[in-house]
Amino acid sequence: MSNGIFSVPVPVNEPVLSYAPGSPEKAELKKALAEMNGSVMDIPMFIGGKEVRSGTKIPLSPPHDHQHVIGHYYRGDASHVKSAIDAALQAKAAWAALPWEQRASVFLKAADLISGPYRARLNAATMLAQSKNVYQAEIDAVAELADFWRFNVYYMEGIYRQQPDVSPKTIWNRLEYRPLEGFIFALSPFNFTSICANLSSAPAMMGNTVVWKPADSQIYSAQVLMEVFREAGVPDGVINLVFVDGPEAGEVIFNHPDFAGLHFTGSTGVFQHLWKTIGNNISRYRSYPRVVGETGGKDFIFAHPSADVEALAVAISRGSFEYQGQKCSASSRAYIPRSIYVDVMSRVLADLKTMKMGSPLDFRNFINAVIDERSFDKIASYIDRAKASPDSEVIAGGNYDKSKGYFIEPTIVKTNNPKSLTMCEEIFGPVLTVYEYEDDKWEETIGLLDQTSPYALTGALFAQDRYAIHRGSQLLEHSAGNFYINDKPTGAVVGQQPFGGARGSGTNDKAGSYLNLIRWASPRTIKENFVPAKDYRYPFLAEE
Ligand code: NAD
Repeated sequence: MSNGIFSVPVPVNEPVLSYAPGSPEKAELKKALAEMNGSVMDIPMFIGGKEVRSGTKIPLSPPHDHQHVIGHYYRGDASHVKSAIDAALQAKAAWAALPWEQRASVFLKAADLISGPYRARLNAATMLAQSKNVYQAEIDAVAELADFWRFNVYYMEGIYRQQPDVSPKTIWNRLEYRPLEGFIFALSPFNFTSICANLSSAPAMMGNTVVWKPADSQIYSAQVLMEVFREAGVPDGVINLVFVDGPEAGEVIFNHPDFAGLHFTGSTGVFQHLWKTIGNNISRYRSYPRVVGETGGKDFIFAHPSADVEALAVAISRGSFEYQGQKCSASSRAYIPRSIYVDVMSRVLADLKTMKMGSPLDFRNFINAVIDERSFDKIASYIDRAKASPDSEVIAGGNYDKSKGYFIEPTIVKTNNPKSLTMCEEIFGPVLTVYEYEDDKWEETIGLLDQTSPYALTGALFAQDRYAIHRGSQLLEHSAGNFYINDKPTGAVVGQQPFGGARGSGTNDKAGSYLNLIRWASPRTIKENFVPAKDYRYPFLAEE
């Protein structure tokens, strides 16, 4: 029997390995890549612990080599979503009743599995399925995910420790952090393996059971996550994985009376549509569902005339083009003062010339493919429109080719219209738009930046003048949920920079922090009276 009194030591961030030539991790990863790239993985859905194969088989190919098949998955329908909900509801009571430290152990084990025996396999899956170079895979699928699990356990214990401040004599006041009543729907995007795992596992850690639908292009690495969940000991039915068309899944989920919460990461348009659907169905549910969504961005770098030019140029190159600009945090608009513009941009253009593009299997490639044809076509059309626009000029890149893989050169558009299309809309690709402003208009330009897009996810301010740092930070107070001073706006680390944006960018519940976990609990207040009153009459009623 557990007495439930344990404390969790402060975790340490998982170290990022170098994969330098000759390193053991590189040899192991190369082996996993060769094996996985040379075979075809058969990927079932997982419902109630059972592998489920439907009649419809869909091939999966790496974005950098779209004619090469590395796996196939089985597409489900509404009946699979119903079964997954039933399995989640059936598994709920036992999982919720398990002492928290038992649930914690499952995810601590999962963290040790991916930083140990599963490291190469999970990285290889992410490199192949999502076209990430080794560094991008390592910081996502291994480092960030291990951090999510270890830090969330720490935060969970911290939440449970939060109890009412006062229990007067004869009374004991307590808070019990129950999981939500019903099931949680985790709906995940293509771009981060870690986010996909966290969307399903964070509610599960807090005692909830989950139906998880990943993006089609992430199914291949989702399969490896499922292997890890199973080996770590996530019981049958706690996390159910279905491969169903989003709207078809939504039709079943959002009409179910036991729908208790949505844990979403993806685009703003989809999230707003889901929120509306939930709102329209609100009277069908047993509880008010928790709606947590991290969505799109139009992330900025703003340079003050006092900015360090070298640091700024590196932040632009890395922040805008790593993982082909497909990070929700990637900078896609930059504001640079005239006095340093030429110096900064000549450095960035020189950097771009040295960036090699191609398959992640060749470790020398910094840039890989964008996720799929739909994305490729969308990004290419933004580039074409910028080329045709009288107020914009493509000053770097601008070429694209989808003959073998979905490759788009890192592209920089210079505009003299701070509200041009590519300054305002999320493109989600390797396209940065820069706007050169007059040095003495820097405060005015910050005002313009703040009013240019509906998003407020990440942003960076570069300045060395302390007054400018202070003033700029004030003016940009609501422009970003993750704000950086003299650093690139990407690369948030769990336990260090809790991540999430406001305005159109999401509910800002900060993935990888107690703020997120608390959304998956429904506290019950318990007052226990050891010596209850035995007479209804108060003293004031007595005769004079
Ligand atoms: P997406 O919105 O296209 O898809 C997200 C998920 O929703 C997928 O599983 C998809 O199949 C599903 N879906 C789509 N339409 C649906 C519908 N009508 N009903 C039910 N499900 C539906 O997003 P994506 O292209 O996979 O990911 C890129 C987006 O995610 C970008 O906008 C990016 O900014 C955002 N993102 C945000 C963060 C963040 O933390 N703010 C992190 C990563 C990605």
